[in-house]
Amino acid sequence: MSSPEKLDLARARTALRDVFGFGDFRGRQEEVVERVLGGQSTLAVMPTGAGKSLTYQLPSVMLGGTCIVISPLIALMHDQLRSARANGIRAATLTSADADWRETQDAFRAGELDLLYVAPERASQPGFRDMLRAAPLALFAVDEAHCVSEWGHDFRPDYRLLRPLMDEFPSVPRLALTATADKQTRADVMAQLAIPDDGLVLAGFDRPNIRYSIRPRDSAVRQIADLMKSQPGPGIVYAQTRRKVEELAEKLAASTGRTVLPYHAGLPAETRAANQAAFVASEDMVIAATIAFGMGIDKPDVRFVAHVGVPKSIEGYYQETGRAGRDGDPAQATMFWGAGDFATARQRLAEVSEDRRNAERARLDALAGLVETPQCRRAVLLRHFGEQPPETCGNCDNCIDPPAVTDATQLARKLLSAVYRTGQSFGMGHLQKVLTGAADERVRQKGHDRLSVFGIVEGEDARMLQPLGRALQARGDLVATEHGGLSLGGSAREILKGERDVEMVVPPKRVRRGRRDAEA
Ligand code: ADP
Ligand code: ZN
Repeated sequence: MSSPEKLDLARARTALRDVFGFGDFRGRQEEVVERVLGGQSTLAVMPTGAGKSLTYQLPSVMLGGTCIVISPLIALMHDQLRSARANGIRAATLTSADADWRETQDAFRAGELDLLYVAPERASQPGFRDMLRAAPLALFAVDEAHCVSEWGHDFRPDYRLLRPLMDEFPSVPRLALTATADKQTRADVMAQLAIPDDGLVLAGFDRPNIRYSIRPRDSAVRQIADLMKSQPGPGIVYAQTRRKVEELAEKLAASTGRTVLPYHAGLPAETRAANQAAFVASEDMVIAATIAFGMGIDKPDVRFVAHVGVPKSIEGYYQETGRAGRDGDPAQATMFWGAGDFATARQRLAEVSEDRRNAERARLDALAGLVETPQCRRAVLLRHFGEQPPETCGNCDNCIDPPAVTDATQLARKLLSAVYRTGQSFGMGHLQKVLTGAADERVRQKGHDRLSVFGIVEGEDARMLQPLGRALQARGDLVATEHGGLSLGGSAREILKGERDVEMVVPPKRVRRGRRDAEA
């Protein structure tokens, strides 16, 4: 039997070998290519490095007409352009950085382009629409398609201009591509771009060679220096601010004797380019960077990715940690977090427009869930992306060394009531003193030694206060005020009223002791 689809697929395999030099499709590429060749609109959700570009590049050389690729970053477009041309694909870009507009337009009109890369804002320009009518189109490929959704972590209003443009070409199929889409974002992208319900191709997100660990931060420099010792090879350290990046680069270099260079948007373009090039070429360099670093960088042998502070979302965490171990060899993804990270992130919610705030809060809650879970990290991650993974993976901190979980309901009620009785304006340090009955001058001056909560926590519980405070802040039950004090939030009142229990992970003993003991 030789249905047209089968013939198409046979031709596709030939092109895969002849044009790209690949022996076989990877993951679910074949399904996507098959749909595209059959003219069916599709959303392909595949992790970074899975080979999304191939799913439109291959059809573009097989189908008559030009494939229009919408991509958000000029630098990425030019990378793609180079690699497409290297494979002999007739490709061009139309961006503000190009000087050869006329030639490109002529080539398009003459039907001599397989691929045309454009930025989303181009879509609203009448001149561009007119141009598109002048020659046959094969496909609209929308890269980084999560940008069309306000649920996504990277909403770009320009992406909303794509639908009206594509609607003018109803017979041209659409292929939306993204590496990062939770269920809600995915549904939204499909609705926004009018992709039918059966048009989703969701590839596996698991990165089995990455070992996930998430632990409280006590000294980022020492903790990362330890990580660098246990995991030689290139690594990326992500921090939140430029200042922190610079500081980490300097201190890590000093304490490990390794090359550690900074990368952030505040550095001169030449420095950034030089540091990036040095990193890509190096076999043991570490780069300290803001999340500006990493997009479009192809370095397969990154051995660890460390986060100092929390990423913006689970999607961001997955994308950033996904830069480790692309070669399939063992790699580490380690996050060092503190209560302040969540406090700051939750404070920022106030600045977000009201229509986006719920989505942002849900993202933060999901992230806090991952950070705090006593369960397999990989299982939590993969479930977030809609997969049904096994309960344990054997390659994350919680699987390797299962944490103890304790019922902290009583202690949480003591802590929250101390917050309440001291007027919701004191930090963890002060609250600890009050609760453990360590009256210093400030405690006495405020009269907090006369409160009913004074000195009601002792023994092992006293040591649990700090991690409990951190856990409650991560969950939003304690909220940092502008002046650095803590106030009640989230479910704090239910906890106080006895309507809700609090479970928490017993944090591991400090790493430093263990290491000394081990070395001794
Ligand atoms: P993504 O856009 O999903 O992050 P890319 O399209 O950049 O990934 O592809 C990642 C790498 O995988 C590229 O180096 C590409 O050449 C390679 N690749 C893609 N498809 C295949 C395949 N079928 N066989 C082998 N390598 C492939
Ligand atoms: Zn696990």
